[in-house]
Amino acid sequence: MKRLAVCVALTVSAAALAAGPAATAEPSPGKRGTPARHHAPAKAANESARLARSILNTKGITYATAHVGGTDKASLPKQNLVDVSNGRLARTSPWGHKKGARVALDTKMLNGALKLGTQYRYKFQISELVGGEHSRTSKHYAGRAIDVTWINGRHVGKKADHKGFMKACRKLGASLVLGPGDDKNHKTHVHCQW
Ligand SMILES: [Zn+2]
Repeated sequence: MKRLAVCVALTVSAAALAAGPAATAEPSPGKRGTPARHHAPAKAANESARLARSILNTKGITYATAHVGGTDKASLPKQNLVDVSNGRLARTSPWGHKKGARVALDTKMLNGALKLGTQYRYKFQISELVGGEHSRTSKHYAGRAIDVTWINGRHVGKKADHKGFMKACRKLGASLVLGPGDDKNHKTHVHCQW
């Protein structure tokens, strides 16, 4: 993950931030019926809110209630989803490489996480979305990655079916998937990013 992260993430994140939930421009009178370009960001925010709500309503998807590196409730994964479902941005933790920032959650990531539950029927626990500490250019800080520690009642690295889960992430369009066997940083969790 460290080596492959690129600065494109920052651009995407910045654009999403700028779009924000407050982008609610009305179409100009002369252009009714035609899709106005400035509507796209607001639409993306609405879609993120809808997907975040769907994830929260999916039985079988659970959330870590603590970070590995510190205590901060505002950046826990469930709170990230609650914030976005309410039209707000997700908060990063007050430590790590992107302290106390607010970022959008990517719709592709949200869609992937949702389908892991609803389509692939996995019961899994999300340990981090944008919170926690990751490598400097990590896609977590761009709202594009998910960490999973429990799969179908078993901890990753302790007989969980991480291979099946990782395959499902790839089928759902994830561009980078890491887990046990890949490197020392992923012995006990799966990382899927879009
Ligand atoms: Zn990760």
